[in-house]
Amino acid sequence: MYYIEKAKLSELFSKIAENRSLYLPVKKNGQTNFAHWEEGTEYCDDLKTVKSAKDHFFPQTESLMHFKTEGKKIQINQDKIPDEKTVLFGVRGCDAKSFKILDSVFMSEPQDAFYTARRENSVVITTACSSPDEACFCGVFGVDPADPKADSDVVTWFAGDKLYWEAVSEKGEALTEEIKDVLSSSDEKEVEEEKARISEITKLLPLNNMSLSAFGGDKTDALFNAPQWDKLSEACLGCGSCTFVCPTCQCYDVRDYNGANGIQRYRCWDSCMFSDFTMMAHGTNRPTQKQRFRQRFMHKLVYFPANNNGEFSCVGCGRCVARCPISMNIAKVIKSFGGDK
Ligand code: SF4
Ligand code: SF4
Repeated sequence: MYYIEKAKLSELFSKIAENRSLYLPVKKNGQTNFAHWEEGTEYCDDLKTVKSAKDHFFPQTESLMHFKTEGKKIQINQDKIPDEKTVLFGVRGCDAKSFKILDSVFMSEPQDAFYTARRENSVVITTACSSPDEACFCGVFGVDPADPKADSDVVTWFAGDKLYWEAVSEKGEALTEEIKDVLSSSDEKEVEEEKARISEITKLLPLNNMSLSAFGGDKTDALFNAPQWDKLSEACLGCGSCTFVCPTCQCYDVRDYNGANGIQRYRCWDSCMFSDFTMMAHGTNRPTQKQRFRQRFMHKLVYFPANNNGEFSCVGCGRCVARCPISMNIAKVIKSFGGDK
């Protein structure tokens, strides 16, 4: 294990940025989000970014290819597959787990070349969540915010006046080797105390003890026509905010834009909460907001585990709890099916 004084964080960032592009939480206009680091950029220790870090691998909008037509001829230009070497610093354990969930969507056959290239070229540095808040429930989905090794390349802890650093994958070891001039060796004493402190906080979080026993891949018949969906979905505005802040939501649309320089094919996030989602010539398969609402939660808690060895497609990050304008969220869904232990 290594450490660096907090006061010298910019030396660490500068060293990482010598060979790779560094992205970390930055506060701008009152909101914290992941942003590119350059000399002078101020790191923000509020790890609960408004948007999750999924944009880094699955951007909100990206160009896929361009076309030009001349008479009956068409010229197709595939957009370049991204090759930037990147490091993500300050990722919470829940958000790191969300990357594994996205991997099982975008990196199963046929692989998404854009997403896969970004993932393979990135090093993920998680930071233990020193201030989990009352909207967090990552423990329900098996995430340890005090020691988020499971889905990381490097784990870091802020404790006292130091940042502690531990490489936990080959990529993490390689990065550590590149930058270890700015790190000093350390024992684990202060880190163990910090882990214990975080674990004590998480025991007190009001949503962190919910039970998922009503859900799982074999629960479609039991839950699809359950009466609870009427009440739960009654006030949903279909605004899609919950899906846009969610680190595991992965629906997108592909469209063509016909501009002065030809046609651009791009993709952009979509939302199963929108009334025109997956619209077809005959209309939509889910004409009511209740159907759309049910789809979102059945997907995360039943359909996804059915197709992914029991893995749920929620990491308990709490963003939907904080952002929904009508205070509806997945925790309320879980509780309404008996999950309140
Ligand atoms: S459903 Fe809510 S709590 Fe779960 S991962 Fe998405 S935003 Fe986070
Ligand atoms: S659950 Fe809330 S955030 Fe999600 S679409 Fe409905 S109103 Fe919007």
